[in-house]
Amino acid sequence: MASKPVHDSAFEAEGLRSHYISSLGVADVGNRVSVCGWVSRVREHGEHLVFVDLRDRTGVVQVVAHSSVVVRSEFVIRVSGMVSKRPTGTENPSLGSGEIELVDTDIEVLSSSELVPFAIHDRLEVDEATRLKFRYLDLRREKMQHNLRMRAKINSAIRSSMERQGFTEIETPLLWTPTPEGAREFVVPSRLHPGASYVLPQSPQIAKQLLMVAGFDRYYQIARCLRDEDLRADRQFEFTQLDLEASFVSQREVMGFVSSAVMEAASVAGVAVTSPIGEITWKDSMDRYGVDKPDMRFGNELVDVTTIFSSTSVKALNSPCLKAIVAPNPSLLSRSKLDDLVDRAKRLGAKGLLWLKVVSADHGVQLESPVSKFLSDVESQSLVSATGAVAGDVILVVGDEWMKACQILGQIRLDLGKDQADSSEFRFVWVVDFPLFEGFDEDGQLISAHHPFTMPNEEDFSKLDSDPLSVRSQSYDLVLNGWELGSGSIRIHRSDIQSKVFSLLGIGSEEAKSRFGFLLEAFRFGAPPHGGFAFGIDRLVALLVGEDNIREVIAFPKTQSGSDLMTGAPKEIDQKLWDLLGLSVKPQKKDLS
Ligand code: ASP
Repeated sequence: MASKPVHDSAFEAEGLRSHYISSLGVADVGNRVSVCGWVSRVREHGEHLVFVDLRDRTGVVQVVAHSSVVVRSEFVIRVSGMVSKRPTGTENPSLGSGEIELVDTDIEVLSSSELVPFAIHDRLEVDEATRLKFRYLDLRREKMQHNLRMRAKINSAIRSSMERQGFTEIETPLLWTPTPEGAREFVVPSRLHPGASYVLPQSPQIAKQLLMVAGFDRYYQIARCLRDEDLRADRQFEFTQLDLEASFVSQREVMGFVSSAVMEAASVAGVAVTSPIGEITWKDSMDRYGVDKPDMRFGNELVDVTTIFSSTSVKALNSPCLKAIVAPNPSLLSRSKLDDLVDRAKRLGAKGLLWLKVVSADHGVQLESPVSKFLSDVESQSLVSATGAVAGDVILVVGDEWMKACQILGQIRLDLGKDQADSSEFRFVWVVDFPLFEGFDEDGQLISAHHPFTMPNEEDFSKLDSDPLSVRSQSYDLVLNGWELGSGSIRIHRSDIQSKVFSLLGIGSEEAKSRFGFLLEAFRFGAPPHGGFAFGIDRLVALLVGEDNIREVIAFPKTQSGSDLMTGAPKEIDQKLWDLLGLSVKPQKKDLS
């Protein structure tokens, strides 16, 4: 059966082309077709003929043309020709349409191209600055086309999952007011209100809570969020989240909504995920992995060995908490590598790191270590059995306060183990029971671990005043292979609890009124219990398509210093515009270097 032509609309409208390239095959042999796209390569063939490889968004086809045709790479052309079977032995199995070619062709040049700064080819290494400057050319490459199309499919799968679960997509404003999520906001001065500004939303957090008060019950949005933060590796000022909120739901229900959306996203990307997604408490995650976003694709878990050394004479082991791991890849840990590791631990804030090589694990444990002669047989024996180490292993021990010991050794576990993780494995996990407060700031003020609208765990209400740092929150993070994909919480919907949390965070009633008075007011008119979640789509797509960097799945990303190399943004703006906005800008020191 001949392939389907492109214009199958109800109006039978004639377009420039009859077919997409990848739809053509041997079934079309003998038919005249017209295809459009870019010239990817031109090859001389004998005296009178040239082969033109023509690329459209679906594939590449070989076009046989008369040598009088003058086309070069990246010219945009329309080819009308006859589909012909390639002579036996000249088929190209790497092309979808490799069994056929177009002969007896007319070529119309729709647009010419100057010499492109780099060839449009996946195999070519081009530096990122050039790729970003000519992003429209970079996006022509097969890999980038694939990434962005896969992103669209993932978005579509997420949307249908949310809709199937009864969620309504609602857009929320981009010109908004400050919200307390911890990041600096982009400010948008108002021309009509000189001196006054909007801010761009860090997330639709407050808007979605207001939608719950408004009775929408289940809201979602694939939302753009903007944060004027220093760009750490792999962050962008603007990013995309699946943002959702639901009323009358439990924490587990919200986690269920998100899990379903993520499963559907993974399934369109062809990635197998074990279901249901497992759970770990924050405390357990810190204890066993030393981080709140555990990469569970490899073991080497942290073990608490504090009690083993309770009566030690070794100063380095005399600590409130001792954590140990069996090092991943011990064969790589030469003496100098171990010294590097000690330095690395110190840079991470450790007082030191103790290494112990297991020479023999049975018939009397034998350890090689700077401290081995100070350890009793019972201590050595207990350390080896607690960690499960065998001969040839290296045990690493860090002593400090519980949190610090966990964090330092957790980082070392990741440093040493990341090569060991199977990159084709996708280990999602829910981290639950986070603390409500992260700690105290320099002024001795409590800092919220998620955001100030997060509901404390009801069992811990009574400790809000007496022991706030031990209060757990009803918040949860979704983690994939060591990346925090997103977080959410059940929210405070009662004004008495909200006022209490604000006061613990040092947000006085006047400040609360001026910053989010409209939310507090809304809560006076019947706020349903509600909770929600948001996860980063850029990161999810990058992981699902196997990219390390989110810029590979964003059409027009900024560099790490926040510049757009294609448009030149951010640019200085004209004084006239500042005048119109009622603003003046201090002269900037020019960088003369
Ligand atoms: N608004 C939060 C964020 O963007 C997520 C949430 O609590 O729903 O991280």
